[in-house]
Amino acid sequence: MVNALSVDVEDWFQVGAFEKVIERDTWPSLEDRVERNVEAILAMFDAAQVKATFFTLGWVAERHKRLIRRIVEEGHEIASHGWDHARVFTLTREQFAQDLARARGVLEDAGGTAVNGYRAPSFSIDKRNPWAFEVLAEQGYTYSSSVAPVAHDHYGWPEAPRFAFRPLADADLIELPVTTAMLGDRRIAAGGGGFFRVLPYGFSRWAIRQVNGREGRPAIFYFHPWEVDPDQPRVADAPLRSRFRHYTNLGRMAGKLTRVVSEFAWDRVDTVVAREAAALDAAT
Ligand SMILES: [Zn+2]
Repeated sequence: MVNALSVDVEDWFQVGAFEKVIERDTWPSLEDRVERNVEAILAMFDAAQVKATFFTLGWVAERHKRLIRRIVEEGHEIASHGWDHARVFTLTREQFAQDLARARGVLEDAGGTAVNGYRAPSFSIDKRNPWAFEVLAEQGYTYSSSVAPVAHDHYGWPEAPRFAFRPLADADLIELPVTTAMLGDRRIAAGGGGFFRVLPYGFSRWAIRQVNGREGRPAIFYFHPWEVDPDQPRVADAPLRSRFRHYTNLGRMAGKLTRVVSEFAWDRVDTVVAREAAALDAAT
């Protein structure tokens, strides 16, 4: 079973949890740490011989064109994480279309390759904005990995399918939700990020094994470059819970990631999407 490995490429000051305390117009003055962190991740992936998808902000790509090119040259997929991390449900349909097009233009220019995949910032496609899938299909995207099919305080669409589905009747667009595991009859988030970092490694191993083994489906896993950076600046004004989630176990993350990339089989998201699409076609 080959799972999908992904990195949401944004810097330490661009995370949703800090958006109320760090104004967007201060971003250019803040310490840029994304390049060195992505380079460390590329070295880890190279050592483990795995390929992955880098869902990258247009804002980051505009400032790091050589880094984007290097990601492509090392065999990874460049996909879109939108322009500046505005959550989709805060945008109008027209604003979302513009955000997507602006990010894709810069990503394709920097990478010299087509962008076919999208991940909404903070998994912000849910039951409030299903029109977002129509916009993605209109712009020719092959897939989205933008739904967290679970209840969470900041995001989530608990009624959504847990595995790959076609959200539109008249388009081939595939949505590949981030992984959840079943604990009894309860869905629990198990796709990486803060859960992977904060909880013991054994929890994620159990969850991926359950999804791969008992359910026979690929896991969709993600993390962020700032999660492997224990020395990043601390945001003192953020709420306590945000700070706890953001800073816990940063020093252990690289070791845990090294373990999870070697213990399971991984590939780019577009490769896993192609397999899932073929399975959906075979089932109908
Ligand atoms: Zn993000």
